[in-house]
Amino acid sequence: MTPVQTTFDRLHQASRRDPNPSLEVRRDRLTRLEAMVVAHRDDIVQAIADDFSGRSRTESLSADVLLVLDGVREAKRHLARWLEPRAARPHPFFLPARASVSFQPKGVVGIIAPWNYPVNLALAPMVGALAAGNRVLLKPSELTPATARLLSRMVAETFAGDEVAVVEGGVEVAREVSALPFDHLLFTGSTSVGRQVARAAAENLVPCTLELGGKSPALVHPDYPIEQAAERIAVGKLFNAGQTCIAPDYALVPRTKVRAFAEAFLAATARLYPSHDGLTAIISERAKQRLEALVADAKDKGATVTVAPGNGSGRVMAPVVLREVRDDMLAMQDEIFGPVLPVEGYDSMDEALARIAKRPRPLAAYLFDADLDRARATLDRVVCGGACINDTLVHFAQEQLPFGGVGPSGMGAYHGETGFLTFSHQRSTLVASRVSAAKTFMTPPYGPLVDRALELLVRGLRPGR
Ligand code: NAD
Repeated sequence: MTPVQTTFDRLHQASRRDPNPSLEVRRDRLTRLEAMVVAHRDDIVQAIADDFSGRSRTESLSADVLLVLDGVREAKRHLARWLEPRAARPHPFFLPARASVSFQPKGVVGIIAPWNYPVNLALAPMVGALAAGNRVLLKPSELTPATARLLSRMVAETFAGDEVAVVEGGVEVAREVSALPFDHLLFTGSTSVGRQVARAAAENLVPCTLELGGKSPALVHPDYPIEQAAERIAVGKLFNAGQTCIAPDYALVPRTKVRAFAEAFLAATARLYPSHDGLTAIISERAKQRLEALVADAKDKGATVTVAPGNGSGRVMAPVVLREVRDDMLAMQDEIFGPVLPVEGYDSMDEALARIAKRPRPLAAYLFDADLDRARATLDRVVCGGACINDTLVHFAQEQLPFGGVGPSGMGAYHGETGFLTFSHQRSTLVASRVSAAKTFMTPPYGPLVDRALELLVRGLRPGR
């Protein structure tokens, strides 16, 4: 038996021995998780900085520490209410029966996390899983080994091995994890690996939440001030140096304003990160080379390339704007995942929306339009995981909003109560009554009266009315 299998078995046995932990036990687990993150916040910042060879402390504290704590606190505050069974209306023929839905833990939840927010995307799903009363097996990314080691150590100090466990390792271990017979599996990562994970999970009929990526558009309405839009898009694009699943991937702006937008974006870049100070590094040399190849491909195919002045040191990459882009460029096909922004010009909003619609459904869409009624109507035409009007990224920070993709950008969602529901089984219960119309009629031997009543019911009429 492999170490991964042994770890899983321990969690599995415990979940079958104790299938429905009380509210107090769940709260206690969440409290321990909260204390763990608070106590180790500096270690978290340091480990991520080591893995990236330079990651903004503010980004780590906000996205990887505070957002996890927000999630834990929201769950602790509302868990008692979330757990309350919900009464349902029984069919009138079964009255006075009582119907309800209660929430049971699924059992053991697997979490496979990526490297880009290596603590948030490991622990935020864990919040929902623990709130729902599950045991958790976490597999962090091999591209952030210092953070993976820290997660492993923190979790071992905080939880019993049959409550939460971390397994470290590379793709082989990830494959082994995705083939385990979990009661639910949440995977965050690329669409191509997500497909492999879904295939492995299907072997055991494991329900999956897939949090994937894609190309999220930022659309600027002709009436919206171009500098303001450019600044908010720069903020979203350059947070974590663009290595964010919901980063604005490319911008769609009125054709006559493409140049002004590109200039405003670069000016905002210089203001936000003077001499690239505070800009997070690219996760690996290989990832940096991929980004440079993407820019070179665009240039070869005729794009205008403008690089923000100043040299990035080490793996910090100077932001780049691409104009006159075409669909056959890699930058318009692959998710960019770095500080490179293609800008497309459009002639009408209809044309811009048609372009978004013909591309795979994105994880996020950003719309800049001060006329909120019109903005909402525009967004009704965009099917995407989540959307934000007049800013970028910040819809992710709302615990009350479900977070998840649609189509190739993912399936299922979590955060807040949605996370609790994702990791819970909604069990229906009917408390049957001693006497009811249904019991009287539907107990054999059935007489002609039953047939007549059924006939009326089939025709949509209620007998006796
Ligand atoms: P990735 O798909 O390469 O790896 C993610 C995880 O999957 C890692 O832990 C890895 O070990 C594991 N893995 C690799 N091969 C596997 C296999 N064959 N079977 C099972 N597991 C395997 O993704 P990444 O490079 O770490 O992250 C970047 C991608 O993640 C981007 O596409 C980004 O958009 C996406 N992402 C999505 C979200 C979201 O919430 N929707 C958040 C962050 C990142």
